[in-house]
Amino acid sequence: MTLPDRPDRGMKRRTALKTLAGTGVAMATGSLLVACNGKGEPLSDSTKLALNNAVQGKVYWRGDEAYETARGATCYRANKPKRFPQVIVQPTNDKDVIAAVKFAKEHGLKVTTRSGGHSWASAHIRDDCLLIDMGRMQEVTIDEKAQTLWVNPGVIGSVINQQLAPYDLIVPTAHHPSPGIGGFCMNGGFGWNSRLWGNGARHVLAIDIVTADGELIRADPTQNTDFYWAARGGGAGFFGVITRMQLQARPRPKVWKATVYSFDDAAAVFDDVMTWACNIVPRVPPHLELVMTTTSNKRDTGEPCPPRISIAALALTDDEAQADEALALLDSVPHRDKADFKVEKAPTTLEDRYQSGFKADPAGMRFAADNMYTDTPTEKLVPRLRKVFLEQPTPHTHTFWFAWGPCKPFPKDMALSMQGPIYVGTYTLWTDPAQDELMEAWPPTRMKELADLSLGGQLNDENMLHHPQRYFTDEAWAKYEALKKRHDPEGRFEGFLGKPMPV
Ligand SMILES: Cc1cc2nc3c(=O)[nH]c(=O)nc-3n(C[C@H](O)[C@H](O)[C@H](O)COP(=O)(O)OP(=O)(O)OC[C@H]3O[C@@H](n4cnc5c(N)ncnc54)[C@H](O)[C@@H]3O)c2cc1C
Repeated sequence: MTLPDRPDRGMKRRTALKTLAGTGVAMATGSLLVACNGKGEPLSDSTKLALNNAVQGKVYWRGDEAYETARGATCYRANKPKRFPQVIVQPTNDKDVIAAVKFAKEHGLKVTTRSGGHSWASAHIRDDCLLIDMGRMQEVTIDEKAQTLWVNPGVIGSVINQQLAPYDLIVPTAHHPSPGIGGFCMNGGFGWNSRLWGNGARHVLAIDIVTADGELIRADPTQNTDFYWAARGGGAGFFGVITRMQLQARPRPKVWKATVYSFDDAAAVFDDVMTWACNIVPRVPPHLELVMTTTSNKRDTGEPCPPRISIAALALTDDEAQADEALALLDSVPHRDKADFKVEKAPTTLEDRYQSGFKADPAGMRFAADNMYTDTPTEKLVPRLRKVFLEQPTPHTHTFWFAWGPCKPFPKDMALSMQGPIYVGTYTLWTDPAQDELMEAWPPTRMKELADLSLGGQLNDENMLHHPQRYFTDEAWAKYEALKKRHDPEGRFEGFLGKPMPV
């Protein structure tokens, strides 16, 4: 799929000059909006023009009229971080990416990359960097016979699966339609049937990367294996810009069936259902996704209500009987006869599941998140989880429990190395900017209170800026640090926003 040709393309030079005129005004007034090099010295108009002219896509300099719109559009969350890149480049091809990285090298700027912009922390938005926004590169090329595809990392997961549908293929993506496939796979990725097929990262077969020197290389299991290893689970610490990924697709399961029990009074049943869920983790079959969520808005109208809890399971197989057998695990959910809402062994679709994800995390909201993996024994864990599940600060805030175990060891050819049998994530959602400070602090505060129970965190829902915790094993982290030094000795790439290991 290719984006429609942009009307601005023929006007590139005129736009560039106009853009620079805007910067000139900012410079003349001595405003802080002057774009600078890595030493904080203002960049001349001719220097900036050199980048504008080297790139076929769009370039927005700090101080340009359209800069703020371009910056804001790089992240899903409405609470845009107060961090300001010097320049935002929207490439339309590999050459643009190369030009941007070379420009950054020449002028001492750090580089960040954004694919779909769903990092809860907006790790790509950093002060004074050159931000490469991959959103304009939107190609998907499918090899039906090999069941593989090449995609640009800014393509969103649901669009890829829409394009794979005619071939009865699927790739694991986020359970929400709009996260980019790039960030999703690079940061691990809990996707469709990931308990059976493995994380998103595991589906990455090869990548094209622009290195710190501005060289385009390919990495796969046979060449440039340092890059291949780091891209598969290394997240925002990666030392390159991925322009294209080859992914392994899977035959789309024929049977999608779900069971849901929802209780309006979460507090009344919490101890019993959470105890049941934690104890059943070792018996959850690989083709079943078992989750529990609390939130404080009504299922049908979205109006505020006391916390309600839902236990939901999705079976993904080719065999109806196998799906029913897996879902029968939920026959032992405590109090299920008294559930205020129930659906049992009901057919569902990928589209329904994406819609449900979107309903939980709609566009336009302000968001913050944090998470942990744990293997804490049930009797110790359940009472400690009450607060994060039952005392949520806004109606659309939700806390999420997921049976990831029984854990299989990760292959050694991936940086992805942190996991645990139980996953807990919490997500504040609000709309009033006046609440930003309070709401942004809520998830890391709750998770820090549980730090003694945490094995570590999952990178895709990280909040390491406010809550450093372990995201890698010691072995993987030592390797990652050594590779970063080797392949990005000048520290061209910004890296993690915060500490990915305990301090
Ligand atoms: C509403 C919502 C629902 C979600 N649901 C799920 C879910 O079901 N399962 C799950 O696992 N996660 C989920 N996530 C988390 C999401 O998968 C991660 O935030 C993921 O990183 C998003 O990918 P992205 O490309 O949109 O993000 P981006 O913000 O673009 O990327 C994240 C980081 O990855 C690095 N990066 C991205 N692209 C490149 C590149 N091309 N080259 C080099 N580095 C790059 C950058 O450091 C960037 O800061 C959800 C997030 C949201 C907001």
